[in-house]
This record gives sequence, structure tokens and C-alpha cells, in this order.
Amino acid sequence: MAGAYDAIILGAGHNGLILQAYLCRAGLKVLALERKPVAGGGLSTLEDPRHPGFLHNTHAFFLRTITAMPWYRDLELERHGAQLIEPELNVVLLTRDGRALEWWTDFQQTFDSFADFSRRDAEALRRWHDEFVPIVEDVLRPEAQSPPLPPDERRAVLERSAAGRRLLAVSELSPLEFVEREFEHPTIKAGLLFFNGLREVDLRVRGFGHHIPALLASPAKAQMSRGGSAALARGLEAAVREAGGEIRTMVTPQRLLVENGHVVGIETSDGEAIRARQLVASSLNPHQTFLELLDSAFLPPLLRDKAAAFVYNLVAPLFALNLNLKEPPRYKAAERHPEFDRAFMVIMGLDHVDQFPDMIRHHEQGTIPPTIMWGACPTQFDASQAPPGRHTAFMWEKAPYRLGGHAANWDAARDEHGRMLLQLWQAHAPNLRDAVIDAFTRSPLDVERSLPNMREGDLLVGAFERGQVGYHRPFPGAGFYRAHLPGLYLCGSSSHPGGNITGLPGYNAAQVILSDLGIASDWMPPPIAARLGSL
Ligand SMILES: Cc1cc2nc3c(=O)[nH]c(=O)nc-3n(C[C@H](O)[C@H](O)[C@H](O)COP(=O)(O)OP(=O)(O)OC[C@H]3O[C@@H](n4cnc5c(N)ncnc54)[C@H](O)[C@@H]3O)c2cc1C
Repeated sequence: MAGAYDAIILGAGHNGLILQAYLCRAGLKVLALERKPVAGGGLSTLEDPRHPGFLHNTHAFFLRTITAMPWYRDLELERHGAQLIEPELNVVLLTRDGRALEWWTDFQQTFDSFADFSRRDAEALRRWHDEFVPIVEDVLRPEAQSPPLPPDERRAVLERSAAGRRLLAVSELSPLEFVEREFEHPTIKAGLLFFNGLREVDLRVRGFGHHIPALLASPAKAQMSRGGSAALARGLEAAVREAGGEIRTMVTPQRLLVENGHVVGIETSDGEAIRARQLVASSLNPHQTFLELLDSAFLPPLLRDKAAAFVYNLVAPLFALNLNLKEPPRYKAAERHPEFDRAFMVIMGLDHVDQFPDMIRHHEQGTIPPTIMWGACPTQFDASQAPPGRHTAFMWEKAPYRLGGHAANWDAARDEHGRMLLQLWQAHAPNLRDAVIDAFTRSPLDVERSLPNMREGDLLVGAFERGQVGYHRPFPGAGFYRAHLPGLYLCGSSSHPGGNITGLPGYNAAQVILSDLGIASDWMPPPIAARLGSL
């Protein structure tokens, strides 16, 4: 048996690393086990093996206001080399008729762009922005950054304040109902649904209507990591190592070790047993943690059924086209709007709200929907991601995991589909006909192969439906970061508040674990019930 640790973390993605850093800073001896050769999970940057110097961010790229995250500050990531860039023209939605809806880091410029499409919608933007700023600051952000309350307790505490009651009332709607009720212009409606409804929840599901005004009020804008997304992971690794943590790569956990009803360690696929005096925390998905790693003798049938029934997001999987370029894309629309050449996220093919139901139907049927794509040219903001004078760019598209009924069909379809995407992109940016040095694609199946916790290509690692939210994420009996066995915790995107690079599942798990161990930490926010109760 290898030397003992206080804690072992399964998976060294950003959530696992954040948890590890906090536990190490609290004085625990912590080991993280990672199956890949490098830590970071979705914070991944690859150098093109055929073209040295061209870097591609094959998973996460648009990072939502990382610099405002509590762990970014607590773990002193800037001292550890992280640098985030936040372009001012943050998002542009190009319409078929050459117009553009723009989101700026400056609210007034966003308002002006909305007003070009509809004065009434611009006023609605301002009204909802102003009303929801305090709700985001006092309720939604603290809730995301805290272990969640049980649903009944949450409702009771929210009902005691005006802000809480307003949030509950707006939540009753679905994102689609909210947008249809409050906005009139089809492009504005489509843009709003793209951001919140489509990216995170099924637009049709009630209980998430507040996502849209929260988006309008949120100061969170898209950022990118200088040097590539992996540079943020290197910062996290440095924070872990400085605090005494150990990360072992190319190690696959095989079986959780259980003694007297307590989880006491892990056996690896090489047969090595590693003991943990206090706990094992898994950042993997519930299928991996409960059905693959835990002997069925330690999993009551009811929990086994719940783990097996955990569902993944149908519309989350992405298809990616990555380019090495002689020059950045030059959009035709820039002739009318010169600022476009400095646009960060560019969305194309999205004009109307009716495209969403159509897209969902295609995902259900395993067919590729009419193209809506979005992406960026990272090297316009960070020249270090390509050789001097050269550029990289990418486009993503939502695509079904089970193409034609089987994910394996992607291997034959991938490159042809990439060529079709490139043609569409060239229609908006004609210089791409001559500027492409090389290209490669990644399918939803490639995503799952690379990060098996993203089962079915679901990059959010679990749908936000069937009660898989808040206190009961991933399922009742395993919510609040605690599994049913003492010594087993969860800390990945299958826990509250879910996927994307937020680091909050890891941050919140650290709060629960250190509290359970009776270790006081000055960085911990006050309990969420007290914060909401004082509104
Ligand atoms: C194409 C794509 C684009 C994306 N774009 C964005 C974006 O722009 N912005 C954004 O915020 N998010 C984006 N995401 C989502 C984001 O990457 C994830 O939600 C996030 O990485 C989840 O973090 P995590 O720490 O929970 O899991 P991960 O980052 O997936 O980390 C889990 C770790 O566990 C390891 N692991 C898996 N199985 C095992 C095993 N059996 N044994 C040991 N280790 C294992 C993995 O190798 C990985 O290192 C994107 C994802 C994809 C695929």
C-alpha cells in the first residue's frame, strides 16, 4: 500500500484542482489522480503536431469573468502566472442581412446596439438589467458560490425578501416564455436565448425564466486566458504544488476501497492501493463514481437506479472546426462596422427564435441542424497562440452526439462536415478562401474520448432537468457534495452549480469538506441561509 494521504481527488480538471488547493492550504496532504498526461481537463491547449507554434483550445475557451471568482483571488492565480483578457466588443451576432447585434463590456454601447434593432427592446434591456443587478449580487451569485439549500428551505427563505419573491416569480417561466413576453425583435430574442437558455438549460423548461434577466444584469463577460486556456490550469497546478499538493497523471482509478462502511482509498488500474485517511472526492460523473468505481455491495439499489438514471444534456455536445491561418478572418460586415475586426465571440447563422425548436428536434433525431456557429480568432488578442504573423481561429456548432443513431458515425462524417462549415464561414469572411494553412475537426465523440466524464459529449456533465439542479444535483442522496458513504464526496460539474469553467463545484465542495472536518477557514463565505435571510 502506497504512503497514506489525508485526501485523494479523482480527476485533475479545474474543479478537482481548486478543491485540492483549498484542502492543501488547510494543512491536508492531498493527492489528485488524473488519467491524462496533463492536468486541467477542459482547460486544455494543444499545439498542432503538424504545425509547431499553432495552439488550439480544444475544450473551453470563453471563460466567464474568471477574474471575479473567489478562488481566483484566494489562490492568487495572477501570482501563479494566470492572465485573463476581456475584449470590449465581447460578442457580435451577425445576421444574414449583414446587420449585427453587439454586446459590449460597456452597458450603454450594448443598449445602443439593441436600440438599432428595437427601441422597445433596448428599454426592456435597461429595465431588466436595473431590476436584476441587486438580485444577481445579493441572491444568485452568493447561491452559486455556496453549498445549496434544500429546495423547501430555499423557497421559504427567498419568500421573506422582495428580491427573493421577485426571483421566484420570474423563475416560474421558461426562458422561452420570458423572452417571448418581454422582447419583440426576432434577432434580439434569438441572441438572448442563445446565451442563457440554450447554453445551459432547455429553453422550454419552466423554473429557469430568471436566467435571461440574470444574464442581462450580470457583469460577467467572456474572457480568455493569455497563452491558452491551459495557462489557467498551469496556474492552478502551481497553486496546488506550492501548498504541498501532489498530482499524479496517467493514473486511472479502478475501485473505491471501502472498509467498515467508510471509503478509505482507491485502487488504480495498475493494482496499486492508495489510502486516504479522511476522504476521496470525485470530480467524475455519477456513472463513473457510483456505477464503475463503487462495488455494487456498497450501493443501495435505490441509489444505483438514481445514478443510472442521471441524464446528460441533449443539446450541449459541440462540433469544432479549428484553423491555422495566414491572417485573421475579415468579415464582410466589417465594411459597414469596422469595429467587427476586434470582435471577440462571433455568432453566425442565428436570426430567429424559431430556429431553437428546430435544433432540438434535430438533436432528438440524430441529424445535424441547420448551422448556427460561433467562435473566435484568439490570436487577435493574444499573439502568443500562433507563430509570428500567423493566426488561429475556430468555430463551434451544436451537433447531436448520436449522429444517425450512433456516435461512431462521426468518425466517417467529421471531415466532410468540417468542409461544409468552412464554406459557410467563408461566406461571411471571404478571405478565408486563401488564408487557411490547415484545419482539423473535433466531434462530440472526440470530446467524450478525450474527457470520458463528459459522457455523450455533454460538456456540462449533466442536464439541468429532472431535478438535477441545486441541492439535489446530481440526484437526491448524493447532493450537497456528499455521497451516501462516509468519506466519499463529489466535486465536479455534476454537482451544484454545474458545468463550464466556474470552479464553483470545487470551491463549494471545499466549504462542505472542511466544515465536516471541523477545520475553520477564513476564506469561507457566511452560510447562504444567513445571507439570504438578512435581505
Ligand atoms: C468543445 C468544448 C468547448 C467548451 N467551451 C467552454 C467555454 O467556452 N467556456 C466554458 O466555461 N466551458 C466550456 N466547456 C465546458 C468545460 O470545459 C467543462 O464544463 C469543464 O471543463 C468541467 O470542469 P470539471 O473540472 O468539472 O471537469 P473536467 O474539466 O472535464 O475535468 C475532469 C478531469 O477528470 C479526468 N478524468 C475523467 N475520467 C477520469 C478517470 N476515469 N480517471 C481519472 N481521471 C479522469 C479528465 O481527464 C479531466 O482532467 C467546453 C467544453 C468542450 C468539450
